[in-house]
Amino acid sequence: MFILTIMWSCKSKRMFYLAGVITARLWAGAAVLADAPPVGAQDKLNAFHEVTGGHYQVLAQSGQTAAFEVNRYMNLMLGQYSKFFRNWSQKHPARVVVFEKPSHFGEYAQHVAGLSHHNLAGFCHRRTDTDGVQYFELVACQNQDLYPVLAHEGFHQFIYYELGNITPIWLNEGMAQYFETAEVVNQKLRVGRVSRKKLLQAQSILGSVHRLSIEQLISMDKPTFYRQASRTYPLAWALTHYLMEQDPRRYPNGAVQKYIRDLQRGRDPVACFWTRFGRDREKLNRLFAAYVMRLQP
Ligand SMILES: [Zn+2]
Repeated sequence: MFILTIMWSCKSKRMFYLAGVITARLWAGAAVLADAPPVGAQDKLNAFHEVTGGHYQVLAQSGQTAAFEVNRYMNLMLGQYSKFFRNWSQKHPARVVVFEKPSHFGEYAQHVAGLSHHNLAGFCHRRTDTDGVQYFELVACQNQDLYPVLAHEGFHQFIYYELGNITPIWLNEGMAQYFETAEVVNQKLRVGRVSRKKLLQAQSILGSVHRLSIEQLISMDKPTFYRQASRTYPLAWALTHYLMEQDPRRYPNGAVQKYIRDLQRGRDPVACFWTRFGRDREKLNRLFAAYVMRLQP
């Protein structure tokens, strides 16, 4: 049996109570969630196996081992994101739900978040418990993409600690995809690995009449971005990759870090983009396209 340390420091009495209940249940070796989830849908999660430790309560449909592994991974990634972005702010408890059955995942996504895209791989949303305390819930499906999806959704949770809800949508989705391929090597996050699938998509879009300029991408509002997901996601990933990998100073000393600091100061995200990454828009579009076209998976 592994030893769990509950580090939750949420002020909510209910959260402390939950933490206590969960610890006791783990020590007893039990695996089934007996406490009702804060917002409905408990019928979907009643039989899930639970492991809680560090910052995460993990509910896995397939078993205790999966719940344990996901819990370990999520805590590892949250620590790595904190280190990468030098963000040592308090991270509140969050919940991760991993479905084994795709149909149950789809029903849950529809039920709790109103999401019904047929190619939805996971999602991260904020929920409110019965005491009015907000927490993140990350939801994914157990398949070969589980860990990239968890890294992706975990980034959406993490960026909230950096920028709250002002993160430009292209940056949020671009960075989340950028970190999908991250690996922890010698306790450091190794980033920048290129997914062949994403690269081919980005190259195909940039080479077609349906290409978007950087101006169009960074000025888009969320609904427009999501409506055009087949173009915006690959391009947001490619733009993030370009900005992160081309800068010789690298994060946290380069232009991306300065851009994030600008956003934290409430500056205009589009105006700051050009200030930080290049005022000559035509040149930047050209350099970006050339970079993507010669990138190798
Ligand atoms: Zn995302």
